[in-house]
Amino acid sequence: MRNTNPRDQIKLGADEMREMGYRIIDMLVDYTGAQAQFPVTRALDHATFEEILSEPIPETGSTWEDVLEQFERHVLTTIDHLDHPRFFAYIPSPSNFVGVMADTLASGYNIFNSLYPLGTGAAIVERATIGWLRKLCGMPEEASGLFVSGGAVANLTGLAVARQIQLNGDMRDAIVYCSDQAHFVISRGLRILGFAPEQLREIQTDDDFRLPLAALERAIAEDRAEGKRPFCVAATAGTTNCGAVDPLNDLADLCEREGLWLHVDGAYGASACLTEHRKMELAGMERAHSLTWDAHKWMFQPVECSALLVRDRHWLSATFKETAHFLTDAEAHSKEEVGEEMNFMYQGIQLTRNFRALKFWMSLKVFGLGAVRQAVERGFKLAELAESLLRDSGRWEVVTPAQMAIVTFRYKPTDDDEALANRVTDELSGALAENGFAFASTTKLRGKTVMRLCTTNPRTTSSDLRQTILLMDRLAADLERRAKDAPTRE
Ligand SMILES: *Cc1c(COP(=O)(O)O)cnc(C)c1O
Repeated sequence: MRNTNPRDQIKLGADEMREMGYRIIDMLVDYTGAQAQFPVTRALDHATFEEILSEPIPETGSTWEDVLEQFERHVLTTIDHLDHPRFFAYIPSPSNFVGVMADTLASGYNIFNSLYPLGTGAAIVERATIGWLRKLCGMPEEASGLFVSGGAVANLTGLAVARQIQLNGDMRDAIVYCSDQAHFVISRGLRILGFAPEQLREIQTDDDFRLPLAALERAIAEDRAEGKRPFCVAATAGTTNCGAVDPLNDLADLCEREGLWLHVDGAYGASACLTEHRKMELAGMERAHSLTWDAHKWMFQPVECSALLVRDRHWLSATFKETAHFLTDAEAHSKEEVGEEMNFMYQGIQLTRNFRALKFWMSLKVFGLGAVRQAVERGFKLAELAESLLRDSGRWEVVTPAQMAIVTFRYKPTDDDEALANRVTDELSGALAENGFAFASTTKLRGKTVMRLCTTNPRTTSSDLRQTILLMDRLAADLERRAKDAPTRE
């Protein structure tokens, strides 16, 4: 059976592959080098939307040039750039080119990192990389972990391990505690695991948006008195709203005293442990039973790349091990050589897994920990600079000071009008998005809308920050003027 058309084998000819590859590399290098000249946000236009949605299934192929052109027109024109130096919204994802190339290699060689014998070197690299993270955050040698898609899944995985190890799967009357600033993926994760909403206690935070120990102790005592079974505290190391860090050492003491599991969500904040003097702000994090740490946030990897670490490497297989007859021979081979924890399909939720560790491993080796450490430190410094610029401008009330590279603030109208301050702050993010020079988002703290700047991108310059704050000054003044001209009926 002759099959001479490469396309019938779902492949391209060598020249065509090179041409396509080089063209894409050129696009990426042009983009990466000149990002600051592009708008941060892109307007969504409904015509494009309709065009994409109404396209029929392509029965016959077209040229890659056409499809790439359509990607540029339909996708690139309608996305925000999370790695742009003036993207300050949510938690940015300031990626890096080595990580991007590593992703290309991982897909190009289609590396299957699930079962040790099938991907030995990959499994070892993942194990080594997880070992580096373990060392950096100070967890004990018996600790281990794996890479997953993101903080949402890392937290879910950590909570699944807690449920298995701490409760042996018996969830009746079991109670988890977190603060009212915990990320929504904690409550969603618990829901996915089958916990009822009343099995999560959200404790009201203190003035600094931290989980208050006394209130937590009270809640635990009350629950015990009612015959409930407290079993886990889900603390946050760097809240998404304002960068607050729960008192981790105190919580670790309490968990020890009470026999509870300490899960720490350090999705973006855990990276602060890379720098010696910021590490103090996370003291106690190393005592967690399970820890979430995203590499696609403050460790400069392209999405998706997050690590879950657990204190005892056996806990993962105790939670996720299954048996499959069609894998017996492969497993026997790996057990002799390395033990169970190198079979990553039994260490978490996924069976087929790509090789996420590669991007982190390669970029850390190319840039060195020293550069990454300085890049993290720069994030702290930029937020501190933003805070002082905001204070100096006189138009803003700083609501929470710079911590973990986040500062939050509200507009201060000329006549101290609270409703006006709300309205302008509410509308500012939209005005920024429309302008396109920089982007920042709002959140709510104690019921009030605040703007926030998250400055984790090491390519952000102080001039980027100054210009962004000047722009916000101007946009806010415009919004105030407009609000006074056309007051809403409230
Ligand atoms: C971003 C974030 C998450 C969610 O992580 P993803 O990587 O987006 O899935 C969870 N917790 C905290 C504290 C975060 O900042």
